[in-house]
Amino acid sequence: MYNQTAFGGMLQDIVELTSIVLRPEPLDEEIERRCKQAWEQAPCPECGETAIQSGDGSPRVWCTNCRYVFSYTRNTPFEGRTLSPGEIVIAFVLYADTLLSIHQITQLFEAVYDTVHSTIREVEAAFQRGFYLVWERIQHAIDGPTQIDETGHKCSGYKGQTPPRDGLSRGGSGEGGRSRWEGAPGDTMTLIGACRDVLRVIRAEPGAQPEELKPALDEVEILSGKLDEVWHDGWRGYAPLVYKNEQTVVHSEEFVTDDGVHINQVECLWSLVNPWLQKFRGLSKPGLEQSVRTYGFVRTLNLAGAPLHGLLDCFVVNVFR
Ligand SMILES: [Zn+2]
Repeated sequence: MYNQTAFGGMLQDIVELTSIVLRPEPLDEEIERRCKQAWEQAPCPECGETAIQSGDGSPRVWCTNCRYVFSYTRNTPFEGRTLSPGEIVIAFVLYADTLLSIHQITQLFEAVYDTVHSTIREVEAAFQRGFYLVWERIQHAIDGPTQIDETGHKCSGYKGQTPPRDGLSRGGSGEGGRSRWEGAPGDTMTLIGACRDVLRVIRAEPGAQPEELKPALDEVEILSGKLDEVWHDGWRGYAPLVYKNEQTVVHSEEFVTDDGVHINQVECLWSLVNPWLQKFRGLSKPGLEQSVRTYGFVRTLNLAGAPLHGLLDCFVVNVFR
């Protein structure tokens, strides 16, 4: 059955036709420039002094204190990769911000599926590490209510095995007759989404427990300061838990209460993340947890008006680790 998506079908067809050719060089240069800039403010990995210098025309940076020389990609997710930094960022953007599958993304590169897949996954971990630092710098005094909701349906993974690839891939069993969201029992996860201003946090939790809301709320609090009001729909009776005494319930029969309380932002988030998740045709449990976090943070950067700039920052700040 052809998968109807909310958007992105035309792009998928053009990619299948191999009519898109990438030109990563301008991004390569931008990333090199920003990594070198970051290194000039970072402590030398060898002597700890802030004395790194760089020059044009060479990927090398060096410490003027201890003379230690290394590549600008050190500590970044671009270190030791087959793909160039620009290619990596393009692959990641196509993964995180479009409905192209990793199989389709692979067609754009001179690399095999496994290389593109593992690169995206490892770079994704660096993105999530960097997001906290970058968000601290770009957020503008976020306050106001936090909307929280959980997906009505469960998303499930493929227990103990890599998810099947797309239809066109070679080999690979496990595709036969398995419908998209039915993995092995025990791997089903409920998605918890929280929105506060432009901040979006999505987590995958085991589900069926009122406490499952807490990690998402805690994360919103870490990223945006103390929570004041929490708005939710009171589904499954988790009202007793929720946040201290400062909560307001939207009853499911009404979209907006007389007081103006609603969870429309989270509802909107679900309408975006659901078609995005479908492109994976199932994910391992850790894969699902990692992907939905990424989606929330990528959406946040888009809403905060710092899409590519913010994304590159998240990769580059890894030099400070
Ligand atoms: Zn040094």
